[in-house]
Amino acid sequence: MNTAVNLTTPIPVDGLRARLGFWLRNDATRLLWPTRCLACEDPGLDGMDLCFACEAALPELEAACPGCALPVPEIGQVCGVCLTARPGALNEIHAAFLYAAPLDRLIPRLKFAGDLAAGRLIAQLMAERLRRAPQPQALIPVPLHRARLRQRGFDQALEITRPLGAALGLPVLDHALIRHRATQEQSRLSAVARRRNLKDAFQAWPKLPLPEHVAIVDDVMTTGATLRAAAAALKRAGVRRVDAWVTARVP
Ligand SMILES: [Zn+2]
Ligand SMILES: [Zn+2]
Repeated sequence: MNTAVNLTTPIPVDGLRARLGFWLRNDATRLLWPTRCLACEDPGLDGMDLCFACEAALPELEAACPGCALPVPEIGQVCGVCLTARPGALNEIHAAFLYAAPLDRLIPRLKFAGDLAAGRLIAQLMAERLRRAPQPQALIPVPLHRARLRQRGFDQALEITRPLGAALGLPVLDHALIRHRATQEQSRLSAVARRRNLKDAFQAWPKLPLPEHVAIVDDVMTTGATLRAAAAALKRAGVRRVDAWVTARVP
């Protein structure tokens, strides 16, 4: 009796390929190819590139001042600083999170390693939180200067804004703002130098019709000087209300 396994039996490749194609085009792909956490490489949650531990560790910002996005004791409270002087052209600032782990791994993964999957995950996390914020008529990413864009090859704010707009059903006006000057790295400058560095750095695209209420989108907010400069340009162009939506507020 011949017990040897016949290794030459042809595998029905066409059938397999057709089936694979179906799954690849289908959301059920997630079931076949499990997700992986983009922050720590552990197995991810269902439909999310984030693991259970990193999801539980997300630095939520339950109650934050609408003037500066810093934590306040109760929802709806305005902090003491913003009560006396709310500076600049921004109406409200809504941050999805504080800047801490695991966002201190996810944001650099997008920004400096160019991992666009991290941008999609960040947008997914932002959409769940910013659904509760007053909804604007359109989202506008805070643009990079074209020299920086050439150097980096992608614009991180745009990579977040596109899937965020899609998730919330909001149009994205990705050419509404022009960044005129390649501003120096903001984090290396003093507050006064930052404002000088940003004066007239942005301009709204001439003659582009803009809605009355927009939200500008960026990844990280430190002092908010960049956001205010971008908001001022939109106000000069006639936009009545400009909010800022950011992924994470540096405490
Ligand atoms: Zn993880
Ligand atoms: Zn405040």
